[in-house]
Parts: sequence; C-alpha cells; structure tokens
Amino acid sequence: VSSVELTREFLDRIKQEDGKYNSFITVTEEQALAEARAADEQRAAGNATIWTGVPFAHKDIFCTNGVRTTCGSKMLENFIPPYDATVTDNFRKAGAVSLGKTNMDEFAMGSSNESSHFGAVTNPWGLSKGEKRVPGGSSGGSAAAVAARLVPAATATDTGGSIRQPAALCGVTGLKPTYGRVSRYGMIAFASSLDQGGTMARTAEDNALMLNVMAGFDPKDSTSLDREVPDYTATLNEPLKGLRIGLPKEYFSDQLSPAMEEQIRSAVKEYEKLGATVKEVSLPNARLAIAAYYVIAPAEASANLSRFDGVRYGYRCEDPKDLMDLYTRTRAEGFGTEVKRRILVGTYALSAGYFDAYYLKAQKVRRLIQQDFINAFKDVDVLMSPTSPSPAFIQGEKTNDPVTMYLEDIFTIAVNLAGVPAMSVPAGFIDGLPVGLQIIGDYFSEARLLNAAHQFQ
Ligand code: GLN
Repeated sequence: VSSVELTREFLDRIKQEDGKYNSFITVTEEQALAEARAADEQRAAGNATIWTGVPFAHKDIFCTNGVRTTCGSKMLENFIPPYDATVTDNFRKAGAVSLGKTNMDEFAMGSSNESSHFGAVTNPWGLSKGEKRVPGGSSGGSAAAVAARLVPAATATDTGGSIRQPAALCGVTGLKPTYGRVSRYGMIAFASSLDQGGTMARTAEDNALMLNVMAGFDPKDSTSLDREVPDYTATLNEPLKGLRIGLPKEYFSDQLSPAMEEQIRSAVKEYEKLGATVKEVSLPNARLAIAAYYVIAPAEASANLSRFDGVRYGYRCEDPKDLMDLYTRTRAEGFGTEVKRRILVGTYALSAGYFDAYYLKAQKVRRLIQQDFINAFKDVDVLMSPTSPSPAFIQGEKTNDPVTMYLEDIFTIAVNLAGVPAMSVPAGFIDGLPVGLQIIGDYFSEARLLNAAHQFQ
C-alpha cells in the first residue's frame, strides 16, 4: 500500500472510533496527508528509511512546529509552537507521518488521564466489557490510541511511570529509556531531572524501531548523554539463556494482590523456560520512593511552571487590572486542580525554612534509592515486577483522593528517581483487563530490555 492509503485508513479509524475513547486532542488530517504524499515520493525516488510513510502520533507534550501543542492544559489551549522538539524533528527527518497529538493528563501530572483539560480518555479494554475505565496516565491517550489500533505507535513521556503504567493498563508495550538517552528539547517540562521521552507500540520490535529514531545526543539538551546509539533491533533475537532475573522482595510483599502476583510469577516462569535464572533481591529504600518523588517532582514543577504568567505565551485572563492581577487570574483560570496542588506543594517544599526538611531530605533519599539499583545490578541483569498494583480502575474512583492516586505509581517511580530504563510488557489478564510486567535494567541497557520483551512476546 502507499503511505497515502495507509494514512487515510488510520485517519478514518480515528474519525469512526475516537469518539468513544477521546485519545486524540488534535488530529492533523491535512498535514498528515501532505506528509504521506511526500513520503510516497521519497519512496518512489528510492530515498526511504524504514519509517518513511509510516503513520504514528505524538503525545501532546512534544512541540510540533505549526501544530497546536496543549500539554493537556487550558493554559496552552491555543499555543502553536514556532519550532519542533528534537523528538518531533527526528521523526520528521525519518519520513514518518504524524496523525496528530494524543491526550494526556494536564502537564503530565496524573495516573488516570482524568486531569486533562480536554476530557478523560476511556480505556478500550474496559469499554469492551461495557465499563468506563481509565487508560492510566499521564500518556493515556497514546496508550489508548495504540490499544484501539487507531495508530501503530505513539511517542510518550515518563517522569514517574507515565509510559509504563498506561501501557500496562491498555495492554501495549512501552519503554522509558535511561534518563538522558532521548532529548528533552521541546518537550514541555514537568520535573526536569526526571522527565524522559520514550516509546509506545504493540510490540517490543516496534518500540525498538521508535527508539532508533528518538535516541541520541542533542546539544540543545544539556542533560542529554553523548553515547553511541546501537541499532536496537539488532539484538532482539539473542537467546535469553543465562539471563539473571532479580525479583525485588519489596515489590512482592503481602500488599500485592494474589491475582496480580500469579500473573507476574507465571510470566517469570516463562523466562525460566527460556533459560533465565531467578533470584530474590532487595531494594531496601524502594518504600520511600513515592514520598521522595511527590516532593521532588512538585518542587521542580513549581519552578518550571512559573513561566506560564500570561505575558509571553499561552492563556491570558481578560482585562487585567494590573500586573499582579494578570499573574494571579491567568494562573487561577489557566491551571487545573492537580497542577495547582503540585505548584503549592512544590513551592512549600522549596521555601526557606522547609527546604532542608523536605527537598534536601528527598534528594538524599533519592540517592539511596539509586544506590539500591546499582547494588542490585551487581548480581542480576534485569529486575521484574508488576507495572501497576491493579488493572485499569473505574473512572472517577480515585479522583477525590490524591494519595490513592499517587499509590498507582508504587512500582514505577523508584526507576525514575534512579534514572534507569524500564519497560512494561503485556503479561496476561485479570477479569478481562490487561496486566503489565515491568522489566527494569541497568543504565543504557535498553537493547537488553527490548530483547527480553521481544523473546517473551
Ligand atoms: N503519576 C505520576 C505523576 O502524577 C506520573 C508522572 C509522569 O510520569 N508524567 O506525577
């Protein structure tokens, strides 16, 4: 098929189906068809990469030149960036066809995609049972769109689980690379020391193809790392014989539901059949991860979000009386509840008198958590655990209780604090709802994670 035909096919599917899911904020039909036509010409001229003419979508956190980029917020409802994120640029150069921008929690804060200014996203698996369940968050739009086959692949970001948890809840495969592996330039900032762009698709192989395009050093991002990018598809078929798997005992506590434990243990058994060895390991400080994250992430967010002041870009309140009125009303009207909660928590934690007690303490805990992973990877190659404590929950169930919502991140967040890479891979069902196996690796072990995921699929 030609790229134009393929692109039309997916655009039609989005038109017919996305009313149910709300997984897109913006569909760029005209641009997509123009890109597809250009891709067909490139292909005819013999200039094709593997991505030339392939449709995909961007999480609406990546700046797209000339295309509205909202970050799920009223604050950026009408923001049209005059430049591309490096990730966007990389896909453009590879000839891929962007169908549009996927829905997300406002400023990527959330685990259910319910904090989006553009409405909640509905999980396709829940809907097939007649129930309105969350897709997970914050990359819930990307996950739901891939799960519903509205798009073969989508970009996503993971500051505290936002690729892995929605991938798990929607039954797709997602990868959060090592911090610094993918450029953050043009990716709207939430918590800069944690934010990392990554991949979401049906299979590990498709994730590898995406990472081949996304990974690499970028002089425009001072935290991007200058290391060679391997071909992530080259090692997908390596045998797993001798792979040393660690099961962190803290993640298999009596708090874990028996149904979830059974799914994960049976996935681990499959790995043993493939020749892997399994042992128990310990991440003694993992229990502190949620507490540390929910100080550090809001602290960084409070600083990053100070740029939305109604002066330079984004939402501006009507008829401000004076400068203070402009600032306060713009921010009161432009930000949603969860974003305001984070700004307040973060500002408090950074304020004189509380900095040492909260922020500095959280940073020390973060270092201990990082050391736990470094120690674990002296003995094993990968760690395995559930991705989320339970399958997709019903919409509205956790919205009035932020702490229960934050507990969704119990298995994913330590990884972000340490900066190591991790994946979520579909690993069965509980009551007809998908469950994810989390595979965590040492720094820059993306190829190994993709290999392990591919062999399992
Ligand atoms: N649940 C996390 C949070 O709300 C998800 C953040 C993320 O990865 N973008 O902060």
